[in-house]
Amino acid sequence: MPGAAAAQRVPVEEQSVAVVADPVNLTELRREAEKAAKDLEEATKALEQRRAQIRDSEKELSAKLRQLQEAERAFARIRQPLSDLVGLLYQQPIGGDVTGFLSGESDADTLRAMTGVTQLVAERQRILDDTSRLQQERERLAAEAQELRAANLLSEAQMAAEIETLRARSQKIVKSLTQALVKLGVKIDKKGQPAGGCDPTRTSSLTEFPNGLIPQAYLCPLQQKGNELRGDAALAFISLNEAYKRRFGKPMCVTDSYRSLAEQQSVYYRRPGFAAVPGRSNHGLGLAVDLCGGVERFRSPEFNWVEANGKKYGWIHPKWAYVSPFEPWHWEYDPKLGSLL
Ligand SMILES: [Zn+2]
Repeated sequence: MPGAAAAQRVPVEEQSVAVVADPVNLTELRREAEKAAKDLEEATKALEQRRAQIRDSEKELSAKLRQLQEAERAFARIRQPLSDLVGLLYQQPIGGDVTGFLSGESDADTLRAMTGVTQLVAERQRILDDTSRLQQERERLAAEAQELRAANLLSEAQMAAEIETLRARSQKIVKSLTQALVKLGVKIDKKGQPAGGCDPTRTSSLTEFPNGLIPQAYLCPLQQKGNELRGDAALAFISLNEAYKRRFGKPMCVTDSYRSLAEQQSVYYRRPGFAAVPGRSNHGLGLAVDLCGGVERFRSPEFNWVEANGKKYGWIHPKWAYVSPFEPWHWEYDPKLGSLL
């Protein structure tokens, strides 16, 4: 039987994982949750960019409108005295002596005066034309601004609705993830968890928190009471623990996981040599566990199994822990490896 022959070649440790599928696919759920969170983040960013664009275009429009109004006012200031002057000239059509004009004297003066009047009338007309052109331009711009505002409001409302949908989807996935964890025996403390549970997507921004000072909302509990890890590491560990249970019939034994700075200091001073310098350990990043129940003994079946199978969940035994300091119990989650799963 080719199936049996193939199965024989697979080491027992590997086989148990390959044959029995993860009852709840946490990796799948985590990936979905990550995608939903990313979509939400991108949509929010797009809305912010759109808002900035809207602000800029509205600013530009109102600046143009202000310029036009100022030009109109300037024309009005010239127009009035010019109209008054033209009106005055019409009432006294000839600038100069009436008797002189009738007697035919000072022809040159009269002609000059009449040319002046014609020019003034033409100037007044030009200003009137300019003013009405400006008015039309201002009205057109005002209408454009109105339209722009309406269109902006509409697109903003549409984007906000889309974001709301994405947020709801993201929360739904985190909720089903949390339900899956509860089913696996994880006690989720809903307090301090923004989405009402364990949110593995809140890890990307984690680099901003110093070692040992990760806020509670970014940590997720393990099935092993009193232990917690960074969200992604916790999910991966829970999956690993499920596989371990199927192989050994018992859950993994955890002596230590996330350590706050205060706890790191306490361990460091109580048991020097047993813990890394406070602020430097991967325990403070929520990415390391110390295991018991057999794994702590180098080359025990438990150690060998975790060594062979941990990688599938992003968990590794770091090189240094094989030699210096020799810590067979210490295991770490590699986010890069985990994100490829
Ligand atoms: Zn350790």
